[in-house]
Amino acid sequence: MVDDAQRVVIFTGAGISTESGIPDFRSPGGLWTQNKPIYFQDFMASEAMRIEAWQRKFNMDDTFTEARPNAGHMAIARLVQAGKVTSVITQNIDNLHQNSGVPEDKVIELHGNTTYAKCLDCGQRHEIAFVREGFEQSGKPPPCAACNGILKTATISFGQAMPEAEMMRAEAETLACDLFLAIGSSLVVYPAAGFPIIAKQNGAGLVIINREETELDQIADLVINDEAGLTLSSLVPHN
Ligand code: NAD
Ligand code: ZN
Repeated sequence: MVDDAQRVVIFTGAGISTESGIPDFRSPGGLWTQNKPIYFQDFMASEAMRIEAWQRKFNMDDTFTEARPNAGHMAIARLVQAGKVTSVITQNIDNLHQNSGVPEDKVIELHGNTTYAKCLDCGQRHEIAFVREGFEQSGKPPPCAACNGILKTATISFGQAMPEAEMMRAEAETLACDLFLAIGSSLVVYPAAGFPIIAKQNGAGLVIINREETELDQIADLVINDEAGLTLSSLVPHN
């Protein structure tokens, strides 16, 4: 199917990164079995919640800073280099597609990026180290250095608006593709999980690669229930 396709879109979820040591949300032992997510409204509503959110972020941070792209990310990067893949749409926030060598302008992050922070008021980017230093000094996240606004990791929380430009790009890429590969996603988080449906309805082939069944298996042309890294390395061998 990849050989026959002209424009492939890759769509990834937390499952592509578990082999890099970042747990997913829903699997046994996943992040949600430890902590319920903090909703955007609650983050905005109280400083105590923002302290809690940042504390959790610092506790998790080594997991993200130490993670390296795995065989699955590397196989996707090779497919991109081969010129087949028009974009990598990801729900992940870990920066591993970029770290694996996929050019930044080909990665569309639907849920943002946890490797830096952003001011919710003026949009200025801040490094995590800046927030951590301020937090260690005062016991709470520092305000934005530019406008005194509220700093949050550059991720999209439940209840927070989706990034408009990324959503529009992802939709355009999905409509233009003839093959859509959904990898390592349970396909239950909307609106992200809408993209495979759009692709299929628009006539593209739909392949799902996931360890366990997903919500959209019944509409897929091919479902592979296996590890993402192993499956993708055999799909795109090293030259
Ligand atoms: P999910 O946790 O709902 O689903 C992950 C899916 O991947 C599961 O169905 C699981 O069976 C499968 N899986 C796990 N390891 C796999 C492997 N090695 N090979 C094949 N399949 C594997 O995750 P989701 O659907 O991506 O949605 C949850 C949200 O959580 C995302 O929107 C994302 O923003 C966020 N998240 C991101 C990260 C990250 O950046 N790495 C990690 C956890 C959660
Ligand atoms: Zn600001």
